[in-house]
Amino acid sequence: MAFRATSLLKAAASLGSRRSFKPVPIPKISLNKNATSKTMASATTATRQSPLDVQLTFLGTASAQPSSTRNHSSLALRLGSDVWLFDCGEGTQSRLQQSIVKMGRIEKIFITHTHGDHVFGLLPLLASILNGAGGAADGEDEPRAHIDVSNPVIEIYGPLGTRAYIRTGLKYTHTFFSTPYVVHELRLPWDPKHGDHTPLPCHSAESPNGRNIFQVDGVWENIFEDNVISVSAAPILHSVPCVGYVVNEAPIPGKIDPKKYIPELKRTNTHISAMSRLQKGESVELSDGTVLHGPPRRRGRKLVILGDTHNPAAIEPLALDADLLIHEATNAHLPNIDPGTKDDETYRSVEERTRSRGHSTPQMAGAFARRIRAKQLILNHFSARYPGNDDVDPMAKIYMDAIAGLAAREYGKEVICARDLMNVTIGVPES
Ligand SMILES: [Zn+2]
Ligand SMILES: [Zn+2]
Repeated sequence: MAFRATSLLKAAASLGSRRSFKPVPIPKISLNKNATSKTMASATTATRQSPLDVQLTFLGTASAQPSSTRNHSSLALRLGSDVWLFDCGEGTQSRLQQSIVKMGRIEKIFITHTHGDHVFGLLPLLASILNGAGGAADGEDEPRAHIDVSNPVIEIYGPLGTRAYIRTGLKYTHTFFSTPYVVHELRLPWDPKHGDHTPLPCHSAESPNGRNIFQVDGVWENIFEDNVISVSAAPILHSVPCVGYVVNEAPIPGKIDPKKYIPELKRTNTHISAMSRLQKGESVELSDGTVLHGPPRRRGRKLVILGDTHNPAAIEPLALDADLLIHEATNAHLPNIDPGTKDDETYRSVEERTRSRGHSTPQMAGAFARRIRAKQLILNHFSARYPGNDDVDPMAKIYMDAIAGLAAREYGKEVICARDLMNVTIGVPES
């Protein structure tokens, strides 16, 4: 199935925060561009229309330390009008306000791991979305201490500790919400089978129906699934338990040519509503026995969003032939560009140090993208040494072009380095 990369992925080069918030399509991507794993669908899930508009907004692309040009990790995936967040580092809320993403449309938050640079922004964001605010220390006479939690507005997924982190943070900041949330944890084989990893009881806004989801054959398949989108996950190696997510779209209705069908419907006095069945790829039998077949469905899109990692091999079977891979590239060896490079430093020594901290170099990201036959690769989670204003600062552009080039040499294709507030549209496959 042939894919035209240029039409599949249109990246916006605009930094956005200080100028235009509109996604700016780049016609051609260029290096020089500026329970068990079975699902229970959420009560908040509406039926989605296919094909979806699928867009990503990078809200934070820094690693351990944010800088003036890069925020801590967060990524917004827009599916039609709904928004899913992947990680929620410090300052995510403020980046959301600068972006084209509507905070009130967030319905799910996927946490890759509980390092602070990926979760420190979660509690304030929840407080905003769920109408939260401080209450009295004992909570007596607090009407929000007695809300109906049967239909959570926000679903959060993350590894063991996600639930305890949220619950503890809310408890000791005396925070109450007027709308409920639920936390599902992706548990590793050695994690406890039961319990919440904290002696604290559920927060007053927390649904007690959060699932503990266990692996089957080393992965968490279909942790969420609705009529159009499903999400699977797998553990990826980092210095703490970490999860990579795979978002799969169900097959997309094929392009329908009305000229092919309408004369037949008219000829046999068939109601025009038959067109909607044909559009879904179904067959329709006409009054004279003729059978019309709708166009075959096209395959849906696959997005792979990794957290911090020095080895994501366990997600490979789920990630094969991804339309887009988001992979970290925390450190790079840039001897002729970075004046901070030590004389005795080599690529090998940089890779060794990077791996020992649970991270990747651009070359490692490029090699993984090639291995899974990803159609596009975007790098994120950069060291504070690598500036995020490469659209306006020529020196920053030299750094980021060099990093993209290192990954591209391993990958064999062009690579994009994400910057904060970059918008990316993932188009519908042509076949
Ligand atoms: Zn990190
Ligand atoms: Zn980390």
